[in-house]
Amino acid sequence: MKRVFLFLFLIFGFLFASDESVTVKAKKVGEYVIVNADNKNPFSVTIIYNASLENLKSNQKLPVVFVMHAHSSQEILHLHVDKNPFKLKANYKWTIGSKDAQHNSNYLYRLPYKLGTKQSITQGFNGLFSHYGTSQYAVDFNMKEGSEVYAARDGKVVDIKYDSNVSGPTREFEKNANFIIMEHSDETLATYAHLEQNGVIVKVGEQVKRGQLIGYSGKTGFVNGAHLHFIVYKAVDGITRASFPIKFISQEGIISQPIVGQSYIAE
Ligand SMILES: [Zn+2]
Repeated sequence: MKRVFLFLFLIFGFLFASDESVTVKAKKVGEYVIVNADNKNPFSVTIIYNASLENLKSNQKLPVVFVMHAHSSQEILHLHVDKNPFKLKANYKWTIGSKDAQHNSNYLYRLPYKLGTKQSITQGFNGLFSHYGTSQYAVDFNMKEGSEVYAARDGKVVDIKYDSNVSGPTREFEKNANFIIMEHSDETLATYAHLEQNGVIVKVGEQVKRGQLIGYSGKTGFVNGAHLHFIVYKAVDGITRASFPIKFISQEGIISQPIVGQSYIAE
């Protein structure tokens, strides 16, 4: 009698993320173990998948880093069962966005507030308070609570949070920020953060035009005071992100390096 030992050690998404919106599962089919990924989110994700193998041969070099578009599932690799018993011990991580996004560095973003009004910069690129690492090229606009926030570029709303009224001056308050995340046509993402409670007036899936009113600024999350945090970025791999040094158009001309303390008029 042939005895087949099947050991599948699968580590599911909830160990790494707060939900199961991205899953990677293995299934034995004949001579193979097929690994499938599923992304239930309305945005692209980049996943890194790694596994230790015994008596299995992968058709791809591990780890594999791959992009899954919104609401998609696909086979990501298959493993040949060289002999029984075999063992597969897998883990994966994911982050929002596509690693393949190509940012157009000549694009001129609209300042994200009411036309003809001015706001000053409270933190620019490489800001010491919080604009380093994955947030390197974020910009903070000194906007009072309840100020109108406008889309800086056309995009599709892919994620929102609006229920928080919590804030604090340290990193552990990051998760308390209300935000809008938009995906642009080049697959880069923009986040508009620290919006006031119920200060989001767009829905996930909605196509938004540059200059459209999308919400109201506030001081939720990791902040010292009310402001709008704006950043354009993409995924690098399944773990990290990279932001882009964007340019804005203003009445004062093109802003390629927002200066702390300086005011700019939206146009
Ligand atoms: Zn910021």
